[in-house]
Amino acid sequence: MGNCCSQGKPGDDKGEATADNGGASNTINGGADDSSQPKIAPASPGPNAASSKPKPAGPIGPVLGRPMEDVKSVYTIGKELGRGQFGITHLCTNKATGEQFACKTIAKRKLVNKEDIEDVRREVQIMHHLTGQPNIVELKGAYEDKQSVHLVMELCAGGELFDRIIAKGHYTERAAASLLRTIVQIVHTCHSMGVIHRDLKPENFLLLSKDENAPLKATDFGLSVFYKPGDVFKDIVGSAYYIAPEVLKRKYGPEADIWSVGVMLYILLCGVPPFWAGHPWIKEDGEAPDVPLDCAVLSRLKQFKAMNKFKKVALRVIAGCLSEEEIMGLKEMFKGMDTDNSGTITLEELKQGLAKQGTKLSEFEVKQLMEAADADGNGTIDYDEFITATMHMNRMDKEEHLYTAFQHFDKDNSGYITNEELEQALRDYGMHDGMDIKEILSDVDSDNDGKINYEEFVAMMKKGNPEMNPKKRRESTFVG
Ligand code: ADP
Repeated sequence: MGNCCSQGKPGDDKGEATADNGGASNTINGGADDSSQPKIAPASPGPNAASSKPKPAGPIGPVLGRPMEDVKSVYTIGKELGRGQFGITHLCTNKATGEQFACKTIAKRKLVNKEDIEDVRREVQIMHHLTGQPNIVELKGAYEDKQSVHLVMELCAGGELFDRIIAKGHYTERAAASLLRTIVQIVHTCHSMGVIHRDLKPENFLLLSKDENAPLKATDFGLSVFYKPGDVFKDIVGSAYYIAPEVLKRKYGPEADIWSVGVMLYILLCGVPPFWAGHPWIKEDGEAPDVPLDCAVLSRLKQFKAMNKFKKVALRVIAGCLSEEEIMGLKEMFKGMDTDNSGTITLEELKQGLAKQGTKLSEFEVKQLMEAADADGNGTIDYDEFITATMHMNRMDKEEHLYTAFQHFDKDNSGYITNEELEQALRDYGMHDGMDIKEILSDVDSDNDGKINYEEFVAMMKKGNPEMNPKKRRESTFVG
């Protein structure tokens, strides 16, 4: 992997930012990136006096502390790209230039206390501060309206490093070293700019494009803080997942980021995610496993277990649409669990496989997970069942997968999945037991017309996927 800084063109980016945002961006971006504007003689100095452009008439937004403005006056908001605890990121297109960006929308109602508001404000400040660094996602503009704050950023169309690791299973040492070099460089840049990221993990590194050698970009500065060498931190809000618990208990400074980098090296070489306690790779005289196992299996199985039957069936259809490349990592994991190479995972193999990853589950819990994944109820998990139950929920981001699945169920092409079609689908997959239809409809049919349209279907598929929420994912997979 050659994820070095070669493709960063901060100069170009600045040009675009000025051109496409016009007066709006120059005003709302405040003073932090004023270097991109022609300088005006400071006739009357003061925080708001520098701009000669007409100011947006909106009232002052409580989060960004400057006039509110409608992001949609500059950009057209497109499909969803991903989501986190606070933000949903959509593709957006500059109306004037046609250029595409990513727009992270943070609902203000989720900012419940002063700290949350401070975090967003700081995130914007830090991103502005780091503007022009080639391996850090560039902020193009920040907008606030009545409901939300929108951060318009450069588009990283290659998705998360997390997903690339999942697809690959793990990296070779050479590729991991190359990536690590870039990551260390990013951390060094942040630290030398007086910023601690505090949430470094593969989900927060995006790839600029789908290319194998696409540049890596650090993002999500939502937990980041400014610091000065020698600062001591008492308010530990950093990740409990990629930073060792013992570090979390202490006061720490920038070394926390370094620690996370070490963990990421581990992840790149061994797979996602890390598991500290009792891992055979770390334990003295422990056996290093041949195949990297992923303790996401546990969280995904749990998540799958909680889904309604129709969603499970739909996932089965979508699993069938995934390319070999997409499910390569899961295939490796399946092989890792299927120790006798029989093509199926037995209860005992599942128990052993999960235990190897340091998870402590009772016999009953393992049995429940087994039953959840074992769609045909034959007592074992076959390959298709495994892929269905453990596939990454970010797959739901792929519109074509969702559409294919919808069409699969909408046999008569009416644009709706009817009661009968729903019943048939469950029956086809041996999941029908009479009581389900009503329950599913009450869950999914939000307009109460007795059938499921495409929007309702998509909403069901995307609803409650902790996998699409990096912060939740972190909690659910941590086994300390
Ligand atoms: P949060 O702070 O709420 O956790 P993130 O900043 O992690 O939100 O963004 C959530 C998801 O949105 C990311 O994991 C990624 O999938 C997508 N995303 C964020 N920024 C970009 C970007 N610049 N380009 C493409 N996708 C992005």
